[in-house]
Amino acid sequence: MTRPFVTRFAPSPTGYLHRGHAYSALTAYAAARAANGRFLLRIEDIDATRCRPEYEAALLEDLAWLGLTWESPVRRQSDHLATYEVALDTLRAAGLAYRCFRTRKELAAQAQSAPHGLPLPFTGAPLPAEEEAIQLAAGRPYAWRLSLAAAQQQLGGFSNLTFQDHTHGLVQADPANAGDIVLARKDVGVAYHLAVVVDDALQGITEVIRGEDLFEATHIQRLLQTLLDLPTPTYRHHPLLVGPNGKRYAKRDRAQTLREIRAAGVTAETLRRELGFS
Ligand code: GLU
Repeated sequence: MTRPFVTRFAPSPTGYLHRGHAYSALTAYAAARAANGRFLLRIEDIDATRCRPEYEAALLEDLAWLGLTWESPVRRQSDHLATYEVALDTLRAAGLAYRCFRTRKELAAQAQSAPHGLPLPFTGAPLPAEEEAIQLAAGRPYAWRLSLAAAQQQLGGFSNLTFQDHTHGLVQADPANAGDIVLARKDVGVAYHLAVVVDDALQGITEVIRGEDLFEATHIQRLLQTLLDLPTPTYRHHPLLVGPNGKRYAKRDRAQTLREIRAAGVTAETLRRELGFS
């Protein structure tokens, strides 16, 4: 029996899609096609302050224009907050998560005082019970962070955390670089890494195909998979598409959007070819 092949494209509706997104989506789609596998779409919209329904509608339209088809229903993260809460509960119950009351300002000040101005990954510890009770009674908001120290102790180190990557081969995950990552934000009750590992498992993803910019994220996600007893997919981190100026496409640089490209009269076929797909 051949191994099932299930991959996904997981955009965040925080803006319009550009060529970089198209390249990533087409890479995953082509791989699924070649393997006779499945291609799923997931809307990563937990950040209610930045996500907008019109961007979600636009990305569905843009991907369809590009010629992609995907399975229904599309998973939308904001519909599953209770599911992420269960995963967070598991980590809390195992003593792997702690409340962090630091404000953005405090965190920024800490990062600035780091040598060479390089932000240090945050590592902390739970507040002593009495102090925490005071903060809670005062109604101060808090995030939940993963305790790397507790995780390391529970697993006896991270040497068993490996993952297969198409480019890098067998990779030894080093989650310590990221510090005590936020599992649940103050405002939404979940954060990126936790939602992704839960969803990749629930959607039965066997191949995570995404840009190289998320390679470091995989190290953390690999740790979360073990802590939550979830399977580890195979990873393919594709090189990032660069524009004529040699810089990668990014929303913040106002990269030309797929809608603008389309409005300029470029056909989906031309764009697909330009990106290396037939
Ligand atoms: N939602 C993430 C993004 O837009 C992608 C997450 C992933 O592929 O794991 O960059």
